[in-house]
Amino acid sequence: MKYDVVIGIEVHIQLKTKTKIFCGCGTDFGAEPNTLVCPVCLGFPGVLPVLNQKAVEYGMTAGLALNCEITPLSRFHRKNYFYPDLPKAYQISQYDQPLAINGYINLPDGKRIQITRAHLEEDAGKLIHSGDRSLVDYNRVGTPLLEIVSEPELSTPQETYDYLTALKAIIKYTGVSDCNMEEGSLRCDANISIKPEGAATLGTKAEIKNLNSFRAVERALIYEIQRQTKLVDSGEKVVQETRLWDEKKQITSSMRSKEEAHDYRYFPDPDLMPIQISPEHVQSIQKSIPELPQAKAKRFVSQYSLPEYDVQILVADRDLADFYEKTVHLAANPKMVSNWIITELLGLLGEVKIGINDCQVTPEYLSQILQLIENKTISGKIGKEVLLEAFKTGVSPEQIVKEKGLTQITDTNELESMITKILQENPKAVEQYREGKKQALGFFVGQVMRLTSGKAQPETVNELLKKHLE
Ligand SMILES: [Zn+2]
Repeated sequence: MKYDVVIGIEVHIQLKTKTKIFCGCGTDFGAEPNTLVCPVCLGFPGVLPVLNQKAVEYGMTAGLALNCEITPLSRFHRKNYFYPDLPKAYQISQYDQPLAINGYINLPDGKRIQITRAHLEEDAGKLIHSGDRSLVDYNRVGTPLLEIVSEPELSTPQETYDYLTALKAIIKYTGVSDCNMEEGSLRCDANISIKPEGAATLGTKAEIKNLNSFRAVERALIYEIQRQTKLVDSGEKVVQETRLWDEKKQITSSMRSKEEAHDYRYFPDPDLMPIQISPEHVQSIQKSIPELPQAKAKRFVSQYSLPEYDVQILVADRDLADFYEKTVHLAANPKMVSNWIITELLGLLGEVKIGINDCQVTPEYLSQILQLIENKTISGKIGKEVLLEAFKTGVSPEQIVKEKGLTQITDTNELESMITKILQENPKAVEQYREGKKQALGFFVGQVMRLTSGKAQPETVNELLKKHLE
């Protein structure tokens, strides 16, 4: 039997406000445990939450960037449950009146995935298990989150991966979240079920948690499709339950079944007023949203005539896209700039694991190198060495070239005497060339480059060599 796969995704992003959503405590990641707390976020009796306006505006920004409508009136509920990382024993969240609804994301293949809703809520704390003890850090309690829920319209693990990648890129462009999975500022859960091909009713779904990377999501879904298919094929039933992804074993296992599922007893938080948002406010937030990745990609293709491959790499990160454009405005050739960023600069950044804005090479520096190559002051090979030097030291390429005497040898007399010497020392290769083995030319070019430490201009060397050989 063949099956259709139905996947829905819930993403939590941490909004990058300076303070928490209902109190004035800071939100810095990595602070000493339990130093960013106060009676409000610790849920002491009698305290009153006060809504952080920035959190609402960041939520609106993300919602609008995901093509959602912002609802004119939304409300906070209390979601009641007991867990040691939640000192109030309830989480303030939005329930039937979320901040944003009816959005969508377009996947690279053109398929549109609807977003049901995006709502504000507060984060819980963190349990740290060590040996036979468990410790709790309440710093994260009350950090603003936006939960983004998709319609169950994803049909393959690959599509799910593409959806998450697109969502992360959009949110990062808006600047309202770092979307860093390692630091927990982006987390996701997946719902998955299978049904006979073409069937109208949905199968029983499993919810998968503990997904620490987009690749983990993809692998967990692949595993889950196989597991559910096996069950249904053998006449058994899929149980509605929460399952945890085990990264080590590469399997999912049952965490809790529906029987033990929570009844959250939602009710409107009596301490918080509903959020009323005017159309003017929505418009002003809409205006603040920058050009988003897909629009930028389209523009890069038409404005700079770049291949799709280059564009996808450059626009995946807004800082990188900005760096690219700044460099192009300083130097001339858009494709050359793209090549140097993708093959050289990203390689260097990857080695030391830093972002483009944290490195010492600026758009000015890269454009200097490209101009030095274009006006034939240095060769491409020397250009790479200069880039590495500038990357390590922060010294400008023009200065590096000047101080190290890397200017290309343009004196043909000097090159010619060098070539005469090389040809004399390698009679066999000369003979081979003259017998028609033209690839011997490459050997000679290499010899000249070695003797000049790469400072000869390849075209000139080629020309001179041919003249002497023929
Ligand atoms: Zn607090």
